[in-house]
Amino acid sequence: MSGLAINDITKNFGDFAAVDNVSLSVPHGTFVCLLGPSGCGKTTLLRMIAGLEEPTGGAIVLDGDNITAVPTHKRNLGMVFQSLALFPHLSVGENIAYALRIRGRAKEEQRKRVEELLALIHLPGFADRPVAKLSGGQRQRVAIARALALSPKLFLLDEPLSALDAKLREDMQVELRQLQQRLGITTVVVTHDQREAMTMADLVVVMGKGKILQAAPPIEIYRKPADAFVADFIGITNLLPIEADSAGRVTVLGTTVPGLALPAGMDKASLSIRPEDVSITAPREGALVGTVSFVRDLGGTIETFVEAGGTTIIAVATPRERPNVSVGQSVGVVLPPESCVVLKQ
Ligand code: ATP
Repeated sequence: MSGLAINDITKNFGDFAAVDNVSLSVPHGTFVCLLGPSGCGKTTLLRMIAGLEEPTGGAIVLDGDNITAVPTHKRNLGMVFQSLALFPHLSVGENIAYALRIRGRAKEEQRKRVEELLALIHLPGFADRPVAKLSGGQRQRVAIARALALSPKLFLLDEPLSALDAKLREDMQVELRQLQQRLGITTVVVTHDQREAMTMADLVVVMGKGKILQAAPPIEIYRKPADAFVADFIGITNLLPIEADSAGRVTVLGTTVPGLALPAGMDKASLSIRPEDVSITAPREGALVGTVSFVRDLGGTIETFVEAGGTTIIAVATPRERPNVSVGQSVGVVLPPESCVVLKQ
C-alpha cells in the first residue's frame, strides 16, 4: 500500500505499555491527527514513526518498505516540534536551506528551493530576515518550510501550534491544512485539541491509555463516537443513563422516550446526544421534565442548562431558535431518537 502502515506497534517503558499493540493504516496523502488526553501515548507513537523511539514490538511500513529499523535521517521525513528548534543565529533562508546545505546541494538549487518554499508559506522576500525578528506565526511557517525542504514522503508534527495564541492558532490550522492539501503529503500531527483535529484531519485517531479507541473521519467521530470516552472527549455531549423497563420500553432518566431502542441483550447503556440536537419545549409527553438552571447567551449561540433527574442537560440553539425560557422555569427536554447514540456502559 502507498502510505503509512503501523502494524501491531508496542512501546514498553519497563513494564508500562505507553503504546499497546496499535495498528493503523494511513493511505497516501492523508492528514492524520493523533488526539487524546495527556499521557495516552500520542507522542510516543509519533516518535516511533519518526525513528526517535525504538518499538518494543511491531512494524512501521512506509510506501511498502519496512522502515522499523531504518535510522531517522534515512526515513525521508519532515518534522516540526512544539519548540520549532529554528537556528536563531541563521537567517530565514539559511534555516530553510539547512538540510540542503548539509547534503551538499549546489548554492543555486538551495536558493531556488528557498524561494519556492517561501512562496508556499506566504513569506516571499523573507530569505535574508533574521529569525529573531519574526512573529510567532512567521516562525511557525519557517519551521514548516524547513521541514519540507527535502520534499519528504511523510510530514510529522508534534503539537506544532500549541505555543501560538488562540486566534493565530486557528488561522494556522487552516493554513497548515491547505498547504498539506496542495502538496498531497501524508501528514501525522499530535494534538490534544479536538477543534484543531476537526479542522485539519482526514482521519482522527483518538487514543486512550496506549490504545486506539477510534480512528475515523472527524464528523464520524463526532456523530458516531465508539464509546462514552470518545463522545465526551470530542466536542460537548450529554451523556445520560438509559435503560429498558420490564415492559421493554426504553427510559432516559425515568422518562419513556418513544423511538429509542437498546441493542439486543442490553438492558442498560449510556446515551450520547449533542447539545445542538436537544430542544427545549413546554413540558409534554415524551419529553424529559426539568428545570432551567442557567442560560449562557454567547451571542452566536445560546446554551440552556436544564436540571433533570439529577443530571444537567445542555441544549444549544442559534439566536433564531432561541428558547424563550428563564432560570427556574419548568420545561420539556426533547431528545430526537435519530440524534441519540447508544453506547455501552
Ligand atoms: P502529552 O499530551 O502530555 O504529551 P502523550 O499522549 O503524548 O502526552 P506520551 O508522551 O507518548 O504521551 O507518553 C505516554 C506515557 O509514556 C506517559 O505515561 C509517559 O509518562 C510515558 N513515557 C513517555 N516517555 C517515557 C520514557 N522515556 N520513559 C518512561 N516513560 C515514558
